[in-house]
Amino acid sequence: MQTQLTMQSLGSGRPHLLIMAGVHGDEFEPMVAVRRLWQQLQSVVVRGRITLVPIANEPAFLGGQRVGEDGLDLARTMPGRSDGSSTERIAAALAPLIREADAFIDLHTGGRLFRILPLAGYMLHPDEKVLESQRRMARAFNCPIVWGTHPQLDGRTLSVARDAGVPAIYVEAGGGERFEEHAVELCVAGCLNVAGMLGIIERALAPSQVEHVVEDPRVASGHLQVMHPAPAAGYFVPSVELGDHVEAGQTWGTVVDPFGKSLGTVAAAESGLALFLRAVPAVRQGDSTGGVLPLN
Ligand SMILES: [Zn+2]
Repeated sequence: MQTQLTMQSLGSGRPHLLIMAGVHGDEFEPMVAVRRLWQQLQSVVVRGRITLVPIANEPAFLGGQRVGEDGLDLARTMPGRSDGSSTERIAAALAPLIREADAFIDLHTGGRLFRILPLAGYMLHPDEKVLESQRRMARAFNCPIVWGTHPQLDGRTLSVARDAGVPAIYVEAGGGERFEEHAVELCVAGCLNVAGMLGIIERALAPSQVEHVVEDPRVASGHLQVMHPAPAAGYFVPSVELGDHVEAGQTWGTVVDPFGKSLGTVAAAESGLALFLRAVPAVRQGDSTGGVLPLN
């Protein structure tokens, strides 16, 4: 199969802003956002260049699933290999594009399985200059939550950017088994905000919508897929709502059998905000049921 990337650029020279969607094939709002950006950005780039990748992992998208046809998660496969499987080859094609950029935005949702509060995140980069650029991008994007996490996680688009010293943020909004227009609008406005902040387009600074800025230097602090694992296979019933303030130890949810008998409860691992929550009730033992944003 082909691993030619579908992408378009507007403008020329630097700074070069790269905006990507569809690293996960079941995250549709960012794909629509990038399509709208393509339409809105025509003839408004005043300096530098914007490159848009609307669907990074086309085989995953065509399969309607998070991972590629080879079962690999593109966000665990970077920087890939050009002689590998389809996801590895896509990763190998994306990596140089990321390394060549001056700023990078990777747009995500909670996917089919999770709903998530809108956030702009970045790695706590050891280079203070890169870190400061990422902080500015994340704040400019203007999601309610700005979240810096430990830089150790590998295999990501952001880890390729990290290794190349390219300022990069990822964005999460929406998810669950429905399409959320507000997530599209948030992604479009956020990317325009960052492009404006970088001087690529002319755009007035929007009033800040940022409510929480959290930097969490603990190892694996940004690894969502391992949080609050289900104690057994069954039907997950959450005890919290997205955005609730939770206390460490309080009941996060229960896994029940088909007649409602408890197979085990999940306790909140720490205090904070219910950041993301499982939208699909079917769980296998060990599946994440959601996660907390620790407020500092
Ligand atoms: Zn994703």
